[in-house]
Amino acid sequence: MLLNIEQIRTDFPALHQHVNGRKLIYFDNAATTQKPQAVINRISEYYSHENSNIHRGAHYLSHKATEAYEQARKTLQQFLNAPDDRQIIFTRGTTESINLVASSFCKKFVKPGDEILISAMEHHSNIVPWQIACQDHQAELKVIPMNDKGELELEHLSTLLTSKTKLLAVTHVSNALGTINPIKEIITIAHKNGTPVLIDGAQATSHLAVDVQDLDCDFYCMSAHKLYGPMGVGVLYGKESWLEAMPPYQGGGEMIKDVSFTKTSYNDLPFKFEAGTPNVGDVLGMEEAVKYINHLGIKNIAAHETELMDYALSKLGSVDTLRFIGTPNERTGVISFSFNDIHPYDTGIILDKLGIAVRTGHHCAQPVMDFFGIPGTVRVSFGFYNTREEVDQLIEALEKVRIMFS
Ligand code: PLP
Repeated sequence: MLLNIEQIRTDFPALHQHVNGRKLIYFDNAATTQKPQAVINRISEYYSHENSNIHRGAHYLSHKATEAYEQARKTLQQFLNAPDDRQIIFTRGTTESINLVASSFCKKFVKPGDEILISAMEHHSNIVPWQIACQDHQAELKVIPMNDKGELELEHLSTLLTSKTKLLAVTHVSNALGTINPIKEIITIAHKNGTPVLIDGAQATSHLAVDVQDLDCDFYCMSAHKLYGPMGVGVLYGKESWLEAMPPYQGGGEMIKDVSFTKTSYNDLPFKFEAGTPNVGDVLGMEEAVKYINHLGIKNIAAHETELMDYALSKLGSVDTLRFIGTPNERTGVISFSFNDIHPYDTGIILDKLGIAVRTGHHCAQPVMDFFGIPGTVRVSFGFYNTREEVDQLIEALEKVRIMFS
């Protein structure tokens, strides 16, 4: 089904504003997406009529909020095709999901001399938690290299995976380059070595259908705000056997069964990993975002975005002195580039003056920038509400930037 983009855009109030006297063109979707009115309304509705702490209350509002919160868990379970809603842990987002696994899994399963394997194209969120865990447990961090196109060199994978490799953590889609990694293949190879795999799905869930059972990943992490939902909320999916075996990440209310000064017993999944009062309003906003995506159909979204991406790549390719950073065969969402003699920041500032929002800099992926020997890139990232006309205006604006600095 072809999406009616003009119609869809009317659902997004933030898109209908002027910036620096120009109609806003929003190409910073990899940083965060705009929110449809339905998501904004859902959060407002919760605080207007349902606000109550959940799980323990005897009263009407508490029951209502608890029911809504647990229904949201089921919606997210279906979205990721997880076998059971007990495997959906609500977190603050991808960063917290990764930190949870890095802290809890490593405490139980990583010993001095062991190894954790990541890749050369990870976001800092999928590097630093593993560095901390490796320091804590005297383990070693290993890295799958990538090539000049910005694709992982998977021919090294079977030698990098050894009996010491306790976990492999890799991104589904690179936020700096747009590369879609062949994670199913990576997971199969890692599992042959007996190594569980965590997937950083922050950049994937808004562009691709994710089926954790088909992928057979051990953990999958996502953030609602990259998915047209609210900020500061997300999901950790985990295989039940791992989640059962892992110790709690944080202590507090909700995650216990019984507490005394001498002994505490922990709650069942998923509550064992949800200490303290949860972010109920934003969980409901995240559910609404998922419903919105489901309504459009992720396959329809992908078809529109692929067409837009191809169009943008061919147009950008004809801009003089523009150099793509990363030319992977399989990509989604993101195009990174720079001009030979113009600092990405200067490009970003001029585009902003022309009403176009892009991101410039290292995109929290400094090792990727080091690999390409550059301080940063200009990153254009797409959502399903972007159009060819907006791409045309971007090209015009980039021509202005080029001429201004030549
Ligand atoms: N991983 C990737 C690939 C990302 O792009 C991001 C955010 O940009 C993150 C992790 C962290 O997501 P969050 O800040 O929502 O926790």
